[in-house]
Amino acid sequence: MTRKFRLSLKITVEANPYYYYLNTIKHLKMSSGGVITQMLTLVPIKEGFLKDLEIYAEENSVPIIHKEVSDLLKVLLKVQKPKRILEVGCAIGYSSIFFATIIGKDADIITVERNEKMIEKAKENIKLAGFDNNITILEGDAEEKLSQVQGEFDLIFIDAAKGQYKLFFDLVIDKLKDGGLLVSDNILYKGMVAHDDFVVRRKKTIVKRMRNYLDYICNCDYLSTSLVPIGDGVALSYKESKRGDVDGIK
Ligand code: SAH
Ligand code: MG
Repeated sequence: MTRKFRLSLKITVEANPYYYYLNTIKHLKMSSGGVITQMLTLVPIKEGFLKDLEIYAEENSVPIIHKEVSDLLKVLLKVQKPKRILEVGCAIGYSSIFFATIIGKDADIITVERNEKMIEKAKENIKLAGFDNNITILEGDAEEKLSQVQGEFDLIFIDAAKGQYKLFFDLVIDKLKDGGLLVSDNILYKGMVAHDDFVVRRKKTIVKRMRNYLDYICNCDYLSTSLVPIGDGVALSYKESKRGDVDGIK
């Protein structure tokens, strides 16, 4: 069988040299030595139900995870083999269904969504995908719903209002197992978080909050965080034991 690929050429403008918020952007600068870095990505085209959802999302401007990010998460899920996932920001259910497809019948996914239209569509999609026993939607604002969530999770995916990531983090971090993975999506927010030149005035506060959030998760002593500049930017944070590791070295 021949595999189809979509070839996408991306031009990434690197960060202001005086503004080293993101280590990943520094790496880009070092490796390119120029002002513009070209990233060539080969993204396999998905088929089937997920593909239909991608088309729906595109046509209806629903911000589902980028293909590059879902490819990375697929690899991580195959390695980590999580069973329980907590997601903040369900939208039409695309990422939840994507996770469930990888994990299979043992998947236990809780996802939070406040937009009624999205909830309705997500329910329909989850049923069509055959995961209504695996995916539970908590309907309402994350601030209220997350405090009601019981138990521990192997992976937590934050993908909702970008100005509220620290609030979501505070509500979920104790529910993440030691050795668990926290994934935060859209951390570069169209490049605005990496570079002041991209910031539009009305997004200033959100950008400032996201930068503070990244600062926090990059310097948190029980997290090992990597900021990955693919898609709209994704942060991967591995959670160590809060009590310190075996060697006592932090
Ligand atoms: N994870 C999805 C995309 C989520 S888009 C995917 O990749 O397929 C972000 C969603 O978060 C939107 O549908 C929005 O309504 C929801 N959202 C944003 N802030 C929220 C909040 N505070 N509580 C609940 N849902 C929220
Ligand atoms: Mg997202």
